[in-house]
Amino acid sequence: MPEQRLRIAIQKKGRLSDDTVKLLKACGIKVNLNTQRLIAHSDNMPIDILRVRDDDIPGLVMDGVVDLGFIGQNVLEEESMMRKVANEPTAHKVVKELAFGECRFSLAVDNDFDYQGVQSLANLRIATTYVHILKRFMAEANVPYTSCMLTGSVEVAPRAGLADAICDLVSTGATLEANGLKEVEVIYRSTAVLMQRDKPLTGDKQDLVDRILTRIDGVQTAKESKYIMLNAPKANLAAITDLLPGSDLPTVMDLAGSEDHVALHVVSKENLFWETMEQLKALGASSILVLPIEKMME
Ligand code: ATP
Ligand code: MG
Repeated sequence: MPEQRLRIAIQKKGRLSDDTVKLLKACGIKVNLNTQRLIAHSDNMPIDILRVRDDDIPGLVMDGVVDLGFIGQNVLEEESMMRKVANEPTAHKVVKELAFGECRFSLAVDNDFDYQGVQSLANLRIATTYVHILKRFMAEANVPYTSCMLTGSVEVAPRAGLADAICDLVSTGATLEANGLKEVEVIYRSTAVLMQRDKPLTGDKQDLVDRILTRIDGVQTAKESKYIMLNAPKANLAAITDLLPGSDLPTVMDLAGSEDHVALHVVSKENLFWETMEQLKALGASSILVLPIEKMME
């Protein structure tokens, strides 16, 4: 029966799609997403993937149409405020913060605008897609303004004479720069999150969600962790171990044919920087290898 399958909404095409699909794959969920179909069924798990525009995802979860949704916090926040105004259900749970989709929602003005603080925007026209988040910020700052809602190409609004300032998502700032704008105020920081419907799931479905969450943790910690191997002189073993960042108990093994050296293997929660590698070498370590880890379960 279809309702026994877990339904997950993801962005069909856009900035979150690739990372979301990569994460699902890394969690061992096999789905063929090469077709244009709205719903894709997983081959190896009782999961259906619904591919939609990101704006639709919070509502689908809040209305209980899907069980889980991968979404940017900015869209979730905006949609929650919009639904509150419309008296529509907003209950949901954020079950995981994800290590992608990082961006900031910032006010930006023309390069030659004499910006002295938010007050400089008083009574001006500001173009944005996320009108409610902006409205809350401006209300808290007590600055009156006129809102101009644009769902795309926000960054060209000042040049096109549509607005005096914009409030838009920024990651590198390259788009702002290319449009002769400068970022003057960060009003919201966002990453992607996994949201779940508020109403309890059946036992089987919740078990599956819990397994997925554990796997996401495994993938995310693995990405930050490294497997470090090196050969070390026994005499400097303690000093060398001290240099290895965030490492648990290292594995120390005999090196065939060597009396005074051992092999040391360790899983580190952080990357190993060149500077540390140089210090390790100075302490007599050799054959230092830093390897990526694909998955881990602690
Ligand atoms: P859709 O067609 O699904 O509505 P969209 O145009 O609204 O897509 P995208 O541009 O694909 O949205 O961005 C999706 C999300 O990616 C944003 O809401 C935000 O959370 C995140 N994001 C990360 N970096 C950026 C960035 N530099 N610009 C815009 N969004 C970013
Ligand atoms: Mg959108």
